[in-house]
Amino acid sequence: MSTAPDPSHDPAAEKESATEKLNFIETAIQQDLKAGRFDGVATRFPPEPNGYLHIGHAKSICLNFGLAKKYGGTCNLRFDDTNPSKEETEYVDSIKNDIRWLGFDWDNLHFASDYFEQLYQWAVQLIQSGHAYVCDLNGEETRRYRGSVTEPGQNSPYRDRTPEENLDLFQRMRAGEFPDGAKTLRAKIDMASPNLNLRDPVMYRIMHTPHHRTDNQWCIYPMYDWAHGQSDSLENISFSICTLEFENHRPLYNWFCQTLGIHNPRQIEFARLNMTYTVMSKRKLLQLVQEGYVSGWDDPRLPTLVGLRRRGYTPESIRAFCDDIGVAKFNSTIDVIKLENAVRTHLNEVAPRRMAVLDPVKLTLTNWPEGRVEMMEAVNNPEDPAAGTRQVPFSGTLYIDREDFREEAPRKYFRLKKGGAVRLRYAYIIDCHDVIKDDEGNVTEILCTYDADTHSGSGNSQRKCKGTIHWVSAEHAGDVEVRLYDRLFTVEKPDVASQEGSFLDHLNPESLRTAQAKVEPALLEVAAGENVQFERTGYFCADPDSQPSAPVFNRTVALRDTWGKMQAKGKVH
Ligand code: ATP
Ligand code: MG
Repeated sequence: MSTAPDPSHDPAAEKESATEKLNFIETAIQQDLKAGRFDGVATRFPPEPNGYLHIGHAKSICLNFGLAKKYGGTCNLRFDDTNPSKEETEYVDSIKNDIRWLGFDWDNLHFASDYFEQLYQWAVQLIQSGHAYVCDLNGEETRRYRGSVTEPGQNSPYRDRTPEENLDLFQRMRAGEFPDGAKTLRAKIDMASPNLNLRDPVMYRIMHTPHHRTDNQWCIYPMYDWAHGQSDSLENISFSICTLEFENHRPLYNWFCQTLGIHNPRQIEFARLNMTYTVMSKRKLLQLVQEGYVSGWDDPRLPTLVGLRRRGYTPESIRAFCDDIGVAKFNSTIDVIKLENAVRTHLNEVAPRRMAVLDPVKLTLTNWPEGRVEMMEAVNNPEDPAAGTRQVPFSGTLYIDREDFREEAPRKYFRLKKGGAVRLRYAYIIDCHDVIKDDEGNVTEILCTYDADTHSGSGNSQRKCKGTIHWVSAEHAGDVEVRLYDRLFTVEKPDVASQEGSFLDHLNPESLRTAQAKVEPALLEVAAGENVQFERTGYFCADPDSQPSAPVFNRTVALRDTWGKMQAKGKVH
C-alpha cells in the first residue's frame, strides 16, 4: 500500500463536511461536483399550471431554490405546460406570486411549451435513427399490449414501420390529419423490460385542444416523460430533483438524453410531503373548490399557499417548517402540528399582542367611580422591546371571556370564580362577590370589586394572585367578526380512510365557526394581512374581507392551551 499523500486529501474540507450534516441530496451533489460531473448547481422548480401551489410544493421550492443558493448556483422556474386541457394562465400567475411571496426569485423563467418545436425536431431525430415509431393502437390496446409487472408486454404490430413511413405519419399527425387518439408516437425501447416505463412509452398524443400559450399551433402534445428531461437538458440543469414516484422513470429519463446524445442531468428523488388532516392532490383540491366545500383556492382551511397566507401563515414560518422536516427517501405523513408549531414560533416573535374577548360576558366593578376611565399601559410584544407599549382604556364595565369565569370551580382553576380573585392584565386585582343570571340560569353579569392598591406594576400592594385574565372596556370595545378555523377533515388521513367511499365523507362540519368578539380599540386599526396575537387565545390575521375600521379576523392557530391539556390528561375537571 502506498503511503504517499493523497492529492485530493484536503483536511480543511473534510473537517467541514464532517461537522456539517448533509442530507442525501447534498451528499450526491457534492460528490458529483467533486468528480467533475457537473461544473455547478443548476436546479429548477417545474410546476404544471393546473392548480394553485400547496405546502407540498413549498417543500420542493425551498429545496430547489435553497440548494441553488447554498451552492452559488441557479434555479429556474419552468412551467411544465404540456397538457393543454387542464392548464390556465390564472394558475401561471398565482404560481409566480406564491413563489415570490415565499421569498424566492427564479434566475430564468421558462415554459415547456417554448420547447415544442425543439422537442418535435428531437422526435424526428429519434424516428430517423430507428428509436421511435408511429403506433395506431388505441389507448385500451396500448395498455393491453404493455403487459404487467408479472408479464412481459407484446410488440405493437406497428413497431416495425420504416423510418420513412414513421416520419411521413408523424408529420401528418402534426399537420392535423388525424383525429384525437388515432395515433401516438412511441419510443422503441423494450417491450419485455421489467420496468414498465421502458415498454415503448408514448412520446406524443394527438389532442385538437388549444393551449393557453400556443393556442392552435399544435395538435400533438408531448407526454410528461418526453418533455420533462429534455426541458431540463435544454436549460442545462445539473440536478433534476423530483418526488419518489418518478424513481422508476429515471431509466427512461436517462435513455432519452443518452439516445439523443444531449446533456444528461442527474435525477434525484425525494419523498413528497404528506400532512395529516388534509389532502394535497390537486385533483382533490380542485374538487373541494369547484363543488363549493370551501370558499375558493384561498380558503384558510386549505393547504394551498394562498390559503395558508390568508389564514395568517408567514413565509418565514413555512420556510422554517420545510427546513425542519428535512428531505427523506421514504414517504411518510407529517403531523400538521409541526406546521402549527412553526407559525406559533414565528408569530410569537413578531405579532403584536392585543386583547380580544371572543365569548363576552359583562363584568361590572361595583366600587369603580362612576364615569371614570383610566388608561392602562400595555406591552406590545414581550419578545420584542422595540415594539413598545400602548394605552388601553379601562373602566367600570368590562367584558371578559365566558370561559374565564366559573361560578363554582375546582381548586386549581386560577381564573375568576365566585368568591375568588384574579388579576386583570395590565390593571387591577378584582374580587368576585356575585353574579346576575337570566331565567335559564345563564350568567349575564359578573359583579366584582377592584382592589385599588394593586395596579399592575405600581408596587403599592404585596397582594399576589395566581391567575391573570384579559378584558376589554365595554364602552370602548369594537365589535368584530372572528372566524375560528379547525381542521378540514376529521381523520388524520382522509385519502386512506376514503378507500371505501370518498375523502369528502370525512369533511369536518365544524371546520369553520364564527364569533362576534369585543376587542380593544387598537384592533380596529389592523389592516388586511396583518398578524396579531389575541392575548391568551391565539394568533389571528385580518382577512381581505376586512373593511376600514371593521376588520374580520381569521384564527391562524390557537395558543398552546395549558388548561385544555390538563383537562385532557385528567388532572383537572
Ligand atoms: P398533483 O399530482 O397533485 O397534480 P404534482 O406533483 O403533479 O401534483 P406539479 O405541479 O407537477 O404537481 O409539481 C411541481 C413540483 O412540485 C414537482 O417537482 C413535484 O415533484 C413537486 N411537488 C408536488 N407535490 C409535492 C409534495 N407533496 N411534496 C413535495 N414536492 C411536491
Ligand atoms: Mg405533475
